Amino acid sequence: MKFRVGMGFDVHQLEDGKDFWLGGIKLPASKGAVGHSDADVLIHAICDALLGAASLGDIGQHFQNTDPRWKGMPSKFFLEEVVKMLSDRNWKIENVDCTLSLEKPKLSPHIPAMKEILSGIMGIEKDALSIKATTNERLGYVGREEGVNAYAVALIMQD
Ligand code: MG
Repeated sequence: MKFRVGMGFDVHQLEDGKDFWLGGIKLPASKGAVGHSDADVLIHAICDALLGAASLGDIGQHFQNTDPRWKGMPSKFFLEEVVKMLSDRNWKIENVDCTLSLEKPKLSPHIPAMKEILSGIMGIEKDALSIKATTNERLGYVGREEGVNAYAVALIMQD
């Protein structure tokens, strides 16, 4: 049995009036994330953790942010593709743990829906996906509500 661990980090800018896609759902919020795709920072961090564990580069190499094909693309598609890349190489996802850092909105009511969607895409039990959230105590760009950070760690295994 072979195990590999990977980490992912992503940041997106927040802007008034944008849709805020996070963890595969659209959050009720006055600000949303800016990006080439739907700018789902949590999914991007998870993709990078999975790709990192399998040593398959990063999300930007596979889905370039200058490629018109990915403009406005739901990030769920990127996660589906990354899961396929891993399963093609006989990697099984053991668990994923994530932390989001943003000031608002409050995420706890939305985390069950995110877990439902993302665990489904990854083909893992809901309890094999952990999504945590913290504010940045009003410090820095996250504290000023100018951006959102996501961190993810993934463990994958191969028989
Ligand atoms: Mg990103």
